[in-house]
Amino acid sequence: MVSSPFKPGNFLAAVAIASVIAQTAAFSSQGRFHLSVSNARSFVQPKPLGFASITSTSLEAHLNDNASQTVPLKRRVAAKILSRVAFGFCSLALLHMATLEPANAARKAKKAVEVPLHLGQKIANYFRTFGIPDLGVLTIISALPIVELRGAIPVGIWMGLPISKVLPVCILGNMIPILPLLLLLRNKTLKNAMNPILTQAEKKTKELGIGSVQKQWASLATFVGIPLPGTGAWTGAMGAFLLGMPLAVAFTSIFAGVVSAGVIMTAITLAGKAGGIAALAALLLYAGIELSKGGSSSGKQDFLEAEPYWDQTNVSVNVYKNKAPFVGKVISTKRIVGPKATGETCHIIIDHKGDFPYWEGQSWGVIPPGVREKDGKPHSVRLYSIASSRYGDDMTGKTGSLCVRRATYWCPELKADDPAKKGICSNFLCDTKPGDEVQMTGPAGKVMLLPEENPNTDYIMVGTGTGVAPYRGFIRRLFVENTPAAEAYKGQAWLFLGVANSDALLYDDEWQAVKKEHPEQFRLDYALSREQTNAKGGKMYIQDKIEEYADEVFNKLENGAVIYFCGLKGMMPGIQEMLETVAKKKGIDYEEWIKGLKAKKQWRVEVY
Ligand code: FAD
Repeated sequence: MVSSPFKPGNFLAAVAIASVIAQTAAFSSQGRFHLSVSNARSFVQPKPLGFASITSTSLEAHLNDNASQTVPLKRRVAAKILSRVAFGFCSLALLHMATLEPANAARKAKKAVEVPLHLGQKIANYFRTFGIPDLGVLTIISALPIVELRGAIPVGIWMGLPISKVLPVCILGNMIPILPLLLLLRNKTLKNAMNPILTQAEKKTKELGIGSVQKQWASLATFVGIPLPGTGAWTGAMGAFLLGMPLAVAFTSIFAGVVSAGVIMTAITLAGKAGGIAALAALLLYAGIELSKGGSSSGKQDFLEAEPYWDQTNVSVNVYKNKAPFVGKVISTKRIVGPKATGETCHIIIDHKGDFPYWEGQSWGVIPPGVREKDGKPHSVRLYSIASSRYGDDMTGKTGSLCVRRATYWCPELKADDPAKKGICSNFLCDTKPGDEVQMTGPAGKVMLLPEENPNTDYIMVGTGTGVAPYRGFIRRLFVENTPAAEAYKGQAWLFLGVANSDALLYDDEWQAVKKEHPEQFRLDYALSREQTNAKGGKMYIQDKIEEYADEVFNKLENGAVIYFCGLKGMMPGIQEMLETVAKKKGIDYEEWIKGLKAKKQWRVEVY
């Protein structure tokens, strides 16, 4: 069957045969095991669909039958290992030889012709009219969005090309636009031009951003690798960009996905549904292992923990000061609110190379570039709550995220925004592009830290708008990451978030994912002032939402829960008024009650 054993394409077959011969020689030289070269060859006969019937067990059975009586245990184990290796090579060789074999390819091609491939055939024929060779046509087709490699492989088979050429060419073609796409998306104009497609991609890929880098890598590879409508390398690249994945992680993961999709499509095209299902099962198994690594002990996040993890004696503050600020680099800046939101809020990921560590609940200072108009002095520092856990969104411990609302000035006379009076620092941050430098100070503050010593502590997190930022760090630490704190946590964390409308909700997809995973331990309540009404028929402000659960909130505080408040200063009077009214109704002395909570560090406020 093998017309030229020296063809590079038949290398695997040679190795397979050689490895079986090696075993045979090793055993037969001692007269203990007999498997002739012709026997070995019969194992590697190219039976394209029948090779599956040759199992490693059958080869092992041979080995066991012959060896069990005379061969010592160590050697039997070695024989088993060798048999598995040989079997692996044999299987690969069979697949390779089968697909190289022109007759087989022709047979398969004939089979493939029967599959209706109208769009792919039409596109291929169109490009052929320009005199482009078939391999060139395939490269172009696999580079096209929507069609991609999954559309190109059946076309290649239909063209009568051997799969050994079709597969690598389609993988290459599919990957060609990905790197430029990842880089071009960093250009604001292009990004804006692609906004409708990006919005679609965002919907498809939002779940990919959760978890460690390994998890993100495996999720993206699986997303790209399983040929389903709407998935693929193009959508994957857009998703990776939107999620701020580092370029290398995104590119290698998409490559793995494209190769997987190629294998699945090849299997489907050559071996029908059964082949496709087998390849898909193998990919899912692999992805499952990778995904579990991201969240299992091997992916444990503990390199930034104190000893014990809850010990806050060495929490640093003000390491970098105004006079010698740290220079961070923007990794990504992404608008995170919908079109009907009141104003713009951005999620900004900053690279600190691991040189600017912080704890959840701390803030970073940012010094905007330039000087003040009034006196020509450098701008003063502005504080921003850190919106990621100490490990950063990518879990490397080398990045931190901010959640920044663009401050604008509405001029009542102009009845429009006055750009001359827009907020200096928030606009600078929301306009940053990847690679931009940011002068930073801090970390600042200890009031919003999580007292983790008692893992049964309940947390009540009250926030308006960007006030949710520190809570994102808390929630990732308690529920998303594989930290000792998350492992130990047995309490309940309750988030009350107030914004104007559902388009202005921040990180809703993340909260929903956590809620799904931890329905008992994570509670979530929104106050949407312009969409919901309170019990009295008025606008639903944050205090109205808390009031709905006043009894539970008071009970929890009575039992040692810690309550946090973060956001605009204006939120506090309404909340305090409501709490005072409830306290009165319950016969509690409000002033004493608050005093007691503060003394026990159960009352934590950071408003601005
Ligand atoms: P500035 O330039 O300081 O201007 C402030 C406001 O004045 C703006 O609304 C501006 O439009 C207006 N203004 C400017 N000129 C005039 C004028 N001539 N007349 C009238 N009005 C004018 N913010 C966040 O977005 N996210 C956070 O997570 C966050 N965390 C914080 C944490 C802490 C502990 C603190 C103290 C603050 C936090 N802030 C946060 C607020 C942040 O520090 C800034 O105050 C905010 O971004 C506005 O700064 P700016 O430089 O953009 O505006």
